[in-house]
Amino acid sequence: MKIPELLLPAGNMHKLKVALEYGADAVYCGVPRYSLRARENEFRLQNLPEAIAFARERGKKVYFTVNGIPRNSKIANYSRYLKEMAALKPDGLIMADQGLIMITRDECPDLPVHISVQTNTINYASVEFWRRVGATRVILSREVTLGEVREIREKCPNIELEVFVHGSICIAHSGRCFMSNYFGNRDANQGACNNACRDSYQIFLKNPEKEDAQMELITSEDGTFLMNSKDLRAIEFVRELADIGVDSIKVEGRTKNDYYAAMVARSYRKALDDIAAGLPFDRQLIEELDKVASRKYFSGFLTRGMEDRLPPEELEFQNQDGNTRYQSHYYAGCIKRQNADGFAWFELKTRVEEGDSIEVFFPGEFTSKWFTAGKIKRGSEEYPVLSGGIGEVGLYIPFSVPENAFLAKKIVHRDLVNEVPKAK
Ligand code: SF4
Repeated sequence: MKIPELLLPAGNMHKLKVALEYGADAVYCGVPRYSLRARENEFRLQNLPEAIAFARERGKKVYFTVNGIPRNSKIANYSRYLKEMAALKPDGLIMADQGLIMITRDECPDLPVHISVQTNTINYASVEFWRRVGATRVILSREVTLGEVREIREKCPNIELEVFVHGSICIAHSGRCFMSNYFGNRDANQGACNNACRDSYQIFLKNPEKEDAQMELITSEDGTFLMNSKDLRAIEFVRELADIGVDSIKVEGRTKNDYYAAMVARSYRKALDDIAAGLPFDRQLIEELDKVASRKYFSGFLTRGMEDRLPPEELEFQNQDGNTRYQSHYYAGCIKRQNADGFAWFELKTRVEEGDSIEVFFPGEFTSKWFTAGKIKRGSEEYPVLSGGIGEVGLYIPFSVPENAFLAKKIVHRDLVNEVPKAK
């Protein structure tokens, strides 16, 4: 069985390095002007060569995202951008707009074109269409089922297929949403989505019998999240995707943090390595992904109509609404260095108190280690407790930790009472 490529998002150079160090085979990134991440994206033409060099040194791949749907004003300059991007020799461009695809095929015919999820490619005829216009890979719409992926693979053997397996999903068909534009004047199709679907909305019911009486519709103590989708998690179906012959499995989240990149990459890496080693699926991986903030997970459309194949506890979980966030750990920091005295230094991301249980995750391997937090140093002063967001702190760790190891604090009841976990 061919093991699919593991493809991770990269919103900046650090996240790109972390994703690759924690097991991704490839990353995708892009400059804001033509990519669907106009904000929270630190990549520019000037720093993309460093991204390519870092990946190449490790035998990994980089795809550039050119997946916006540009208006007339952005067309004239595209050839210049294309030339500069092509000179960097990326492993492919992820594209959605037919006009830009035509220009790319005309001017850089050797540059592999991957058809973005934004095109809503949902059937084998569409996949064949994209093959005939020169695409080398199609990223299938997130609305396809596993059965449909299998049929597309059988009917289209001569093109690479990529399937999303993890991350946030839209409540609308990708690329067909105007909610953000309508509510916030920020066009999702130009890379400026403000996640309007994730907001809490106030809805009032009016009783015609009592004209002035308005009753607010509330779905949970956190508010009314009518359109806030649960997050995709298909790690338990990676084996099936490999069996189908999918070439690449993809993770969403260029705007998510470096801890998310590391934790998701290491979990899916383990799932793929287990398949390669002939091992069964390790259900511990489900818990590993709970160490990251989520809006609760489900397997999206992939398993639609196949509910009878899910274990009862999973089915119950799939049926829960997506309002409540759940996670078992808070991200505490990413190690910058450890001094000879054992103190490791990092930007503190959450409240840490003496006595907290901290789990450490290491780049390049799946193992983790635990320790109990002692006093926390800020400069030369020591404190029993410090809050996240205050900058660099030092914590004694009784074993060696490399740069880019991640620290996560186990959530206990006290934290759940005091803090509401935030999902991005
Ligand atoms: S508002 Fe929601 S559904 Fe629309 S593009 Fe943004 S994330 Fe997707």
